[in-house]
Amino acid sequence: MSKNIELRCPVCDHPSQQELETYINTRENSQAVADLKNNKLFLFECDQCGAKRQLESQFVYHNPDKNYMLINYPGLYQNQEQALARGQVILKEKISDPRSYQLRLVPSLAYLVEKIQIFEDDLDDRIVEIVKLLTDGLLAKEKQDAQVQGRFFYKQGDQRKILYLLSDDQVLVDFNQSLMDFAIDKFKKATTATVKGQWQVIDQAYAEQLLSK
Ligand SMILES: [Zn+2]
Repeated sequence: MSKNIELRCPVCDHPSQQELETYINTRENSQAVADLKNNKLFLFECDQCGAKRQLESQFVYHNPDKNYMLINYPGLYQNQEQALARGQVILKEKISDPRSYQLRLVPSLAYLVEKIQIFEDDLDDRIVEIVKLLTDGLLAKEKQDAQVQGRFFYKQGDQRKILYLLSDDQVLVDFNQSLMDFAIDKFKKATTATVKGQWQVIDQAYAEQLLSK
């Protein structure tokens, strides 16, 4: 499913129409899935001046084979209640029994693609967020004045990495297996609690809250 929007190029102000996906089912929309992973699906390219931008737009990503659903909800942190309500509506429409589903709300395209990589690698995103937080400490020791603007679980071939976006650089750090074992062991209780069938925001703040307990 898709919608048509009218937009203006942020560079030259040229108006154009763009068709944006609103619901992607991995069984039915394999081309959209491939385009999403290649950063092409929400790419705007101005036919006047050639400027390119990734468009942030609300959409649902549904994988019925691995039982997870993601919603990209720009403005999530300012509108969490509306996002949750939207999630409930979509559940009713699309899934007869959501109790076996992992349901995640994310604030942007980059985080949605990260969740896909995590779930397709059969990892627990709660554990991944804890490992990212622990890895921050290692990075801070190595690069003392690094200004981290974002960090993402990232598959490079079959290697698990964390991609750090710094203010002036990008760094790929190994996704450390012993940190993961530690996180699984130390946070067993918190992360085995069943959270399927409920919309959740699993992000840096989630991991910070767990680690501060
Ligand atoms: Zn333009």
